[in-house]
Amino acid sequence: TEACLAAIEGAGALNAFVHHTPEIAREQAKAADARLAAGDAPAMCGIPLGIKDLFCTKGVPSQAASNILKGFRPEYESTVTSQLFGAGAVMLGKLNMDEFAMGSSNESSCYGNAVNPWRRGNDTAELTPGGSSGGSAAAVAADLCLAATGTDTGGSIRQPAAFTGIVGIKPTYGRVSRWGIVAFASSLDQAGPMTKTVRDAAIMLGAMAGPDAKDSTCSDLPVPDFEAALTGDIRGKKIGIPREYRMDGMPAEIEKLWSDGAAMLKDAGAEIVDISLPHTKYALPAYYVVAPAEASSNLARYDGVRYGHRAKLGQGDGITEMYEKTRAEGFGKEVQRRVMVGTYVLSAGFYDAYYNRARKVRALIKRDFELAFEAGIDSILTPATPSSAFGLGEMADADPVAMYLNDVFTVTVNLAGLPGIAVPTGLDGRGLPLGLQLIGRPWEEGDLLNHAYVLE
Ligand code: GLN
Repeated sequence: TEACLAAIEGAGALNAFVHHTPEIAREQAKAADARLAAGDAPAMCGIPLGIKDLFCTKGVPSQAASNILKGFRPEYESTVTSQLFGAGAVMLGKLNMDEFAMGSSNESSCYGNAVNPWRRGNDTAELTPGGSSGGSAAAVAADLCLAATGTDTGGSIRQPAAFTGIVGIKPTYGRVSRWGIVAFASSLDQAGPMTKTVRDAAIMLGAMAGPDAKDSTCSDLPVPDFEAALTGDIRGKKIGIPREYRMDGMPAEIEKLWSDGAAMLKDAGAEIVDISLPHTKYALPAYYVVAPAEASSNLARYDGVRYGHRAKLGQGDGITEMYEKTRAEGFGKEVQRRVMVGTYVLSAGFYDAYYNRARKVRALIKRDFELAFEAGIDSILTPATPSSAFGLGEMADADPVAMYLNDVFTVTVNLAGLPGIAVPTGLDGRGLPLGLQLIGRPWEEGDLLNHAYVLE
């Protein structure tokens, strides 16, 4: 814990931690020492973690990187963080992210973006750590903490993990409680661990997961021992390679990474099978209807009354002006864009044309995966991202759709509610990390982690 606190002090330029909690960390570390001395060694005992700012942590600023939640200190602890602390974990502080987890580059944060610790060869230009869990990824990659929590609505654990050379898993929807995590798109959001190794991910996921009476979408299924699943034995497993993920203009190094990954799994005894997921091309548009729709509904609660920021009002301003001014000041540009798209697709005249259509497409995407698994496929291998980390400022303020295209390989997994993991498997020509994604059967995170363990 002391080593991490010192590392964080020295790495301010990465802007990974946005709230520091050294007093809490030292107290928790002491308690962990006492537990160890008493012969009690729970899974996360004494492990110093960073916590994404989207998680409510009791008495500690929890702002979802938004100005509208300025000054908000929750009265309660999210289920995930309370389970981690119960298992002995130590909180070093809160981590930077895109505002309300909307983004792929960390540039929508009210704190300014976190910075990727990696550089392109000798080029000193700063790169994005990815998003939305960019602070989590930067902190783990730069050894500021041993692991971090992330959340993933459309790729926000897997894309930043791939951009920084770490491991990140989005569990099956319902494996981890969403209680106390600021909601973005409730039918897609899942929390998961971001770690240095697959083994760490297995251990930490075990501590985060499990039934929770406070979240009705959280499954009652018991949590298996994920670490025990890491046997390295994948003989006879069928790994699908979906042809629709082979996009036009895919960089040669991503193609090579993908085929090298398939060769590694084959060498370990798996069977590699070409498969088709025909509705893949509709996933991105469906996601960018469903996610903003749910976001516009979830964000209605930030009204200047219940939480955080309230605008200063002028003479004669009534409640409508109060809402309008508060939200105009409190929400950043990307969040405003999502609220507008979301309310539009949900509005009476357009509901059937957009939202209902997207829900139907979502069902077809889910069915594609079900058919593949019914045909005996155990997991599916794809690239995690279409490129390595891009430069800060390169995409922001350009066409927002260019930024959305980053999520092309990851959003299908959230739409279908499946578990997906990003594993670092190589470097590109400029020395930047690249990751592959494995997609698993629902509730089979153990098996999925084991396949990733072979690729690592
Ligand atoms: N980049 C995607 C978006 O902006 C995914 C975000 C996420 O997974 N939280 O919606």
